[in-house]
Amino acid sequence: MRPYSALRLLGNAFSGHKNWPRAWRDPEPAKQYDVVIVGGGGHGLATAYYLAKNHGIKNVAVLEKGYIGGGNTGRNTTIIRSDYYQEENSRFYEFSLKLWEGLSEDLNFNIMVSQRGSLQLAHDEGQWSSLSRLANRMRVNGIDAQMISRDELSRLVPILDCSDEARFPVLGAMRQGRGGTARHDAVAWGYARAADRLGVDIIQNCEVQAMEIVNNRVVALNTSRGRIGAGTVGMAVAGHSSHVAAMAGLTLPIETHMLQAMVSEPLKPVLDTVVMAGALHAYVSQTDKGEIVMGSDLEFYPSYAQRGNLPRIEQIAQETLALFPSFSRLRLMRTWGGVNDMTMDGAPVIGHTPVDGLFINGGWCYGGFKATPGSGWAFAETLANQRPAELIAPYSLERFFTGHTIDESGHGPIPQAQ
Ligand SMILES: Cc1cc2nc3c(=O)[nH]c(=O)nc-3n(C[C@H](O)[C@H](O)[C@H](O)COP(=O)(O)OP(=O)(O)OC[C@H]3O[C@@H](n4cnc5c(N)ncnc54)[C@H](O)[C@@H]3O)c2cc1C
Repeated sequence: MRPYSALRLLGNAFSGHKNWPRAWRDPEPAKQYDVVIVGGGGHGLATAYYLAKNHGIKNVAVLEKGYIGGGNTGRNTTIIRSDYYQEENSRFYEFSLKLWEGLSEDLNFNIMVSQRGSLQLAHDEGQWSSLSRLANRMRVNGIDAQMISRDELSRLVPILDCSDEARFPVLGAMRQGRGGTARHDAVAWGYARAADRLGVDIIQNCEVQAMEIVNNRVVALNTSRGRIGAGTVGMAVAGHSSHVAAMAGLTLPIETHMLQAMVSEPLKPVLDTVVMAGALHAYVSQTDKGEIVMGSDLEFYPSYAQRGNLPRIEQIAQETLALFPSFSRLRLMRTWGGVNDMTMDGAPVIGHTPVDGLFINGGWCYGGFKATPGSGWAFAETLANQRPAELIAPYSLERFFTGHTIDESGHGPIPQAQ
């Protein structure tokens, strides 16, 4: 820490933390913007940042109905990786992972990317062979992947039950060494701060309630803070995609479902990698603070409720304990839910809509956190050029009408179900 920063830290501590400068401005909405992004999650903020940085488009507003990062960006289990099988997904998620690798430097903000490796466990021959196929495909695409035996796995993760007595005995795993985690809300803060410095207006507590469409072109948004004119509108509202699209008269091939996760009380470091078990629908990691983060399956009924329920919490605990019996004495500290916009092929929807000037970035299912930098980069290019960026062209809305779906559904908590 530089002496100036240390002095400032001390000074602010003694003054009751009242004099910190704002990390980003709190502007009143202007009457008109070249581009308005709806949704102040990671995707919306990243889009605004890359619009300003890569394309010089700075007359941009991000409208967020609550506080930035308060949606799924701040509710996920923070896993980043690029272990996808389908060509389109593989290319996109690897591009995104490469951006993650330089993101703290680019934003000048520590988003705590930790490439501690991610493991997908195989519990039977079928899973071993499907993961081997995935690993081969990744290597063909130039992405790191290796199959590791049960012995290697037990050396790598001593706390994992690799014994024959385990409830679901483990055969081995597929490992992506460059996979890992990033601090989720720091991603929202980092993009917000960097976008703000380039002139983007970040407007919180501003709910988009209706769209003004003239001759099939979106011209303005009616919000809880008044009418805001827009040359182009980009929706990046995750679980609320169908709801916001309906304001433009669009029906999307998307259903919203709730996904829960939870954290334990903090422990000393015991788990320095991400462990995912497709057969159990479980994924477990340890935060830098020491908490054990646990996640599992989607709720099967559609819902916009951002809160959990006890049966799923019980299921997550059971699955985690099947892998890590020694966690049985841990106390749960917090559980929560987020709303995910599920597409039927598991791939996102990014690109134009039938309404001129209105673009969509959604359908991220339960895997969109890792997509944040790549999605922002490519959505910004799409908005700037008013045509789909090459990287995300396969993710168009039209694919559901032409049949060009990219079927890798389940590539989240149930990664082997591809
Ligand atoms: C429990 C859980 C675990 C997950 N784990 C992972 C994981 O480990 N790895 C991974 O890659 N992905 C994971 N995901 C998925 C990931 O969190 C999302 O795909 C991703 O965060 C979506 O980001 P976003 O910016 O599109 O959405 P959000 O962060 O949800 O941002 C959308 C914003 O739009 C705002 N909004 C909505 N409607 C309006 C409106 N009318 N007007 C203005 N603003 C509006 C919302 O308030 C919200 O802040 C998980 C999700 C959950 C719920």
